[in-house]
Formats: sequence, structure tokens, C-alpha cells
Amino acid sequence: MQCGQCGSDNRSGRRFCSGCGALLTVACPGCGFANAVDEKFCGGCGTDLAVSALPAAPVLETERKYVTLLFADIRGSLEIIADRDPEEAQAVLDPVLERSSVRSTPLAARSTAPMATA
Ligand SMILES: [Zn+2]
Ligand SMILES: [Zn+2]
Repeated sequence: MQCGQCGSDNRSGRRFCSGCGALLTVACPGCGFANAVDEKFCGGCGTDLAVSALPAAPVLETERKYVTLLFADIRGSLEIIADRDPEEAQAVLDPVLERSSVRSTPLAARSTAPMATA
């Protein structure tokens, strides 16, 4: 087994180079087999050592939440805006949407948030 650092020839089975002390073998993350640092696939299980040496993809933190969704429709709105320009249609619908909008503050935040003092 030749050292990748200094080129010394080492007895097989050595983990570190006899010439420079560099690491000669890398334990397979899958089976623990001692592979040479320049070997691409594990001699014990065939795992792709280049791939398994890469850092694992970061785990996305997920959270389960209960949400309440309110769907509403303005009766006949499509007929009202069908022949209008987008800006004109928005001008017609905006006042309705503003009046019907519901504050979307989470209930938990509403009940636990301290009262703001001015
Ligand atoms: Zn060496
Ligand atoms: Zn292996």
C-alpha cells in the first residue's frame, strides 16, 4: 500500500504510513472495512466511498400546525368584473375585500400575548 502523501510503500494492514504518519486507511461508514484513502469503493460492502464521504444533506426542520382556513366568495363577482379592466375590477372588489377581511392573528398568540402598553 503506497502512501498518498510521501509515496512510501507500506505493509498492508497498516493504518498509518511508516514514512510520514499519514492516514492510509479510512473505515467504511457502512461496514467499517478499512479501505485505502484513494479507493473509491469499499472492499467490504461496495459502498461508494466518495459519495458517502460527502456531508449529509441538512435536515429541514418541520413543524406540524393546525390552521383554520376561511374560504369566501363574492356572489356574482365574476359577472361584475368580466367586462372590466383588471385595475377597474380591483377597484370594485377591494372595498368589499377590505370590509370582509378577518384578522389572521393566531388564536394562541391572541390569548397569550401580553397587552401592549403605550
Ligand atoms: Zn507517507
Ligand atoms: Zn463497506
